[in-house]
Amino acid sequence: MTIRPNGSGPLPEHPRAHRRDLAVQAAVKDGLLDPDRAPLAAFLDLAGIRAAARELHRAWPAELPVLHAFAAKANSMVPVLRLLREQGLGCEVASPGELDRALAAGFDPAGIVLDSPVKTRAELARALGLGIAVNIDNFQELERVDALRPDRPGGSGQGGSRLGVRINPQVGTGSIEAMSTAGRSTKFGIPLTDPGSRERLLAAYADRPWLRWVHVHVGSQGCPLELTAAGVAAAVAFAQEVDRNRPGQIEGIDVGGGLAVDFDGDADRAGFDDHVAALRAAAPALFDGRYRIVTEFGRALLAKNGFLASRVEYTKTAGGRPIALTHAGAQVATRTVFAPAAWPLRVLAYDRDGRPSTAAPAVQDVAGPCCFAGDLLARGRELPLLAEGDLVVVPDTGAYYFSTHFDYNSLPEPPVHAFEVAADGSVDFTPLRPAGHCATLEA
Ligand SMILES: *Cc1c(COP(=O)(O)O)cnc(C)c1O
Repeated sequence: MTIRPNGSGPLPEHPRAHRRDLAVQAAVKDGLLDPDRAPLAAFLDLAGIRAAARELHRAWPAELPVLHAFAAKANSMVPVLRLLREQGLGCEVASPGELDRALAAGFDPAGIVLDSPVKTRAELARALGLGIAVNIDNFQELERVDALRPDRPGGSGQGGSRLGVRINPQVGTGSIEAMSTAGRSTKFGIPLTDPGSRERLLAAYADRPWLRWVHVHVGSQGCPLELTAAGVAAAVAFAQEVDRNRPGQIEGIDVGGGLAVDFDGDADRAGFDDHVAALRAAAPALFDGRYRIVTEFGRALLAKNGFLASRVEYTKTAGGRPIALTHAGAQVATRTVFAPAAWPLRVLAYDRDGRPSTAAPAVQDVAGPCCFAGDLLARGRELPLLAEGDLVVVPDTGAYYFSTHFDYNSLPEPPVHAFEVAADGSVDFTPLRPAGHCATLEA
């Protein structure tokens, strides 16, 4: 990837980068990056989040009944979920904790979708009792739902839950194995191409007229659009096969999420409209109005609308290499630290007052605070030479980073501030979460 050292000349600035620069400077002025009280903090760009939600709505034909369910695991802070609800989104949850947060954020059960390969009986009963949609992961789970169905003597009531099965279209994996969910032997869903599996699932739908949805999620970062679209096409073809047996049985298709994000620059590489175009090409029947649709985007909505900022506590040189010691490490960037090739992040250098650094570029390491040598956000990276008291800013961390804390060294979760830039360039901050050790619903 190409790293463009910031402060290296007048490059055309993306509006997002402009807002970020204003926010960093204002945060310093407001004491939100005080070297003693808040050497590490996270920021969310509300205008950017709203714009992403708008783009998602706009990408899909207005006449189609689509529910865009935000994948809560990407950023499960209650105020973030509430903001997305206010933008007309639903919420995809994959654990009791995420469901609690979605409910705390005020989502209507009709706007919540429960996925997860390991739902307990109690979780299933709760979901059916609430009437939230459930995507069933496997044949054993299907039997558990059978036992909870109201049409069975002693059944506990399924309410208005939309019920479907997650298929694994086995269309292949993307560039990050751990993020790919449609490999031949991936743990998620019911494989469609294993011998006898498709027939068994078709029979399961034939036996259960209340199974009216089909779910697919091919994977996340690293999966090309064509792979995602091939998975959705397999889901649509399966739905049509169910419908041939009992016309109209399939009410909707949940196409999952997984739009990859560009971590190399401020612009978006592929947008929601590119995703729709790829689906249109691969699965035209999805757009003919016969099916309701659910999407489940996480990263593409939030990643580029959040950043981390840390003071450089110290600098040193070892073996000839300059090293900046910061407060941003594995506790907030776990994937980047443990799998740096798959999850590179840009690091931008700012001076102590929050202005893009104008120091001469130098190849250096940017290290975190954790007590293991591999705790590096960037190795051998050329950027303006960092000095004690400077700031490093880590953009594109609004999804899966500061909201997915790793408790190593008992380092606290960083405080999170939302920001809005006014027309005159002034910046307004709202605290979303204080620094702390355990997330609470009151946030
Ligand atoms: C993680 C996940 C998503 C969201 O993936 P993104 O890459 O963040 O868009 C959607 N659906 C399911 C089932 C998931 O597990």
